[in-house]
Amino acid sequence: MSELRTYTGVHRPTWIEVDLKAIQANIQNEQQLLPEGTGIFAVVKANAYGHGILEVAKAAEQAGATGFCVAILDEALYLREAGFTCPILVLGAIFKEDVALAAEQEISITVYNEEFFEGLSLPDKPLKVHVKVDTGMGRLGFQTEKEVLYAIEQIEADPRFEFEGIYTHFATADQKETSYFETQLQKFRSILLRLSRKPRYVHAANSATALLHTQADFNMIRLGIAMYGLSPSVEIEDILPYTLQPALSLYTQIAQVKKLQSGDHVSYGATYEAEQEEWVATLPIGYADGILRRFSGYEVLVDGRPAEIIGRVCMDQIIIRLDRYYPVGTVVTIIGRSGRLKRTATDAAEYLGTINYEITCALSARVPRKYMD
Ligand SMILES: *Cc1c(COP(=O)(O)O)cnc(C)c1O
Repeated sequence: MSELRTYTGVHRPTWIEVDLKAIQANIQNEQQLLPEGTGIFAVVKANAYGHGILEVAKAAEQAGATGFCVAILDEALYLREAGFTCPILVLGAIFKEDVALAAEQEISITVYNEEFFEGLSLPDKPLKVHVKVDTGMGRLGFQTEKEVLYAIEQIEADPRFEFEGIYTHFATADQKETSYFETQLQKFRSILLRLSRKPRYVHAANSATALLHTQADFNMIRLGIAMYGLSPSVEIEDILPYTLQPALSLYTQIAQVKKLQSGDHVSYGATYEAEQEEWVATLPIGYADGILRRFSGYEVLVDGRPAEIIGRVCMDQIIIRLDRYYPVGTVVTIIGRSGRLKRTATDAAEYLGTINYEITCALSARVPRKYMD
């Protein structure tokens, strides 16, 4: 089969390295914490948080993940087409017209509102469903016990449904203050008590919950950010039960080096002005790759030393100030280690006033991923 050329930049010196061993180590460390028989569904939505869905899914399965969670049906279909046969749960909304497609591929879907049952034409193959309870996230899910029980009644009444799971999602599991978390958990537990029959999967834990609130593991957890080796929040970084190993690094190489004179300017708007003679380098990476414009001023690493991104970030290029001359081709670390220093996705997120999830998700398809194992 001839491979279609893509627009991924394999011919450009900018790349992501994903350490699959780190992903596997994170899963195995999590397994140590879990009671026997508790499954791990690896959350691989959004191209595995930017890490690459197929490679991460394969590594996760090898490490013992028992299923996958994705956000949209297409991600699930993509995994099926690639040959994954384990359970796959779509966490997000799907078109009613697509339930047959989900059933056909044995993909589990989330049921979260009563409208779902109106005029639904069910396929012959059983449709696996997880009932989502909104215990305080205020996003998808049935809000009241009555609604939940009504939904389950509809599901149990029709053999073309398979009641496979029930779940909820926590809004504050990544905070040290636990009162809101406790209230949500209490609500979920009280609904579980009303069920005449528990489905195969009862789940509530995202990474933060699995790390810090093991009493809410039930019999399956949905492991996302921690699997990628990143802390769910900065606040809980110092109380994690094991060391998370970040899997993703982002590198580029110096494309041009030049000396600026005092008064010389750099990039759009000419907002940066050299105050003295200085060495600067142009790097072939920009906001179209996920280095958002707000990265201006952030320090990347060159040969183990910090180098500031100066002037405006362009679509495909940025300029950094060097502490001395470096030759063209010198590797620059944007996320990862360089000498004795490192830059994590969390560092970048802190600088940008966002969360590490957004940093790795923003890395676009144009940047090639290389896999280390
Ligand atoms: C994305 C997501 C997760 C994974 O969350 P992490 O914080 O990355 O572990 C779990 N559950 C739901 C419903 C999600 O949307």
